[in-house]
Amino acid sequence: MEETFDVVVVGGGLAGALAALALARSGLKAALVDAQDPAVLKSKAYDGRTTALAYASARVFRRLGVFEAFAADAEPILDILVTDGSGPGRAPSPFFMHFDSRELESGEPLGWIVENEALRNAVYVGAESSGVALFAPARVLSAEFGEGGARALLADGRRLVAPLIVGADGRHSPLRTSAGIKVSAWEYPQTAIVATVAHDRPHKGVAHEYFLPSGPFAILPMTRNRSSLVWTERRAAAPAYLQLDDEAFRRAVADRFGDFLGDIRLEGPRWSYPLAFHLAQRFIAPRLALIGDAARAIHPIAGQGFNLGVKDVAALAEILGDAVRLGLDLGSLGVLEDYERWRRFDSLALALGTDAVNRLFSNNIAPLRLARDLGLGAVNRAGPLRRFFMRQAGGDVGRLPALMGPER
Ligand SMILES: Cc1cc2nc3c(=O)[nH]c(=O)nc-3n(C[C@H](O)[C@H](O)[C@H](O)COP(=O)(O)OP(=O)(O)OC[C@H]3O[C@@H](n4cnc5c(N)ncnc54)[C@H](O)[C@@H]3O)c2cc1C
Repeated sequence: MEETFDVVVVGGGLAGALAALALARSGLKAALVDAQDPAVLKSKAYDGRTTALAYASARVFRRLGVFEAFAADAEPILDILVTDGSGPGRAPSPFFMHFDSRELESGEPLGWIVENEALRNAVYVGAESSGVALFAPARVLSAEFGEGGARALLADGRRLVAPLIVGADGRHSPLRTSAGIKVSAWEYPQTAIVATVAHDRPHKGVAHEYFLPSGPFAILPMTRNRSSLVWTERRAAAPAYLQLDDEAFRRAVADRFGDFLGDIRLEGPRWSYPLAFHLAQRFIAPRLALIGDAARAIHPIAGQGFNLGVKDVAALAEILGDAVRLGLDLGSLGVLEDYERWRRFDSLALALGTDAVNRLFSNNIAPLRLARDLGLGAVNRAGPLRRFFMRQAGGDVGRLPALMGPER
């Protein structure tokens, strides 16, 4: 059985579901395919992470009409404090970098901390009510990219036909492989341990990035006086921490966390994510555009991975909207090259930048410690440079798609 669409999005993670929603809102007949059962995808047990949604990305959710669905569960990030430390239980370096949202002209917070479960549910509700045809659970077995159109073959024998397939099938993207696109990839010797803690004192909307020799330890403010931890640990040491009983794990967290938020209590389970870097050498092939982690998956040190995916979605929706108006073939290389030019350089700079920062900070080498601490202090004192990094954290740099621009 064959069904025809304007665009078929393969992969219903955050990037793919948002793409299907944005494309449907711009008037395209969109299909969204994911191998997982949507009830599993949308459950808390599937993904315990939070996302630091940059303020420019939050504008996309607002304009697509789905921000309100998770607004009550989103904590505004008012400040970001970056400090360097030599180890758990030891005082941090006196040098730091402080981003204050009150310095932003737009008056927005630097971003929002939202539970992935809430984000995913909001985007799925939006996609389904915008007419996206959802095929899930349904695995794409193979895809053909021909002169006249692209075809995705599902495991149950159905075929979805469209001028363009959007590959949102994650960092190991089978579509990327089937299109012959090479990828630069390496593993970090690090695992991210993710957990939620409740604390006695208010966090006041401050996100902390605390660099420890094993990797960054992020404390991200959540609603209801909770914080989400992203504790980057040496890969070899992570399993031992993950197997600790609750009280021993709480003490290990508290050793790194300090006591500035008073007593802390663990809420819910712990998750772990082995970290790796993937950058596709091309973001397009005839009748294929890669978005989200399928295009590049980066270290979570700066909380920018999904934010890059949001910009992919906003840029692609704009380019395809223009192509429809001009009567162009949506899957033609002429159209897709505009998308690649817009997104690949931006991604390259941020992907390599986050990789370099992780290497510079995840060690205890004295001369490097001195250099990076002086660097933190220097950026903090230099107003324009500090504001540049604040806008970078807010996703507000480079050419912004209309969905990400400021309110006029
Ligand atoms: C610890 C950690 C913290 C992070 N924190 C942040 C943050 O604060 N801010 C931020 O911006 N980013 C953050 N990120 C990055 C962010 O989580 C990812 O960039 C984002 O989740 C990627 O979404 P995606 O939709 O591209 O891919 P995925 O979530 O991997 O989705 C891919 C989907 O494709 C489906 N699929 C695969 N193959 C097929 C097939 N053949 N047929 C059908 N379906 C298929 C899968 O089932 C899956 O649902 C973090 C990452 C980590 C590891």
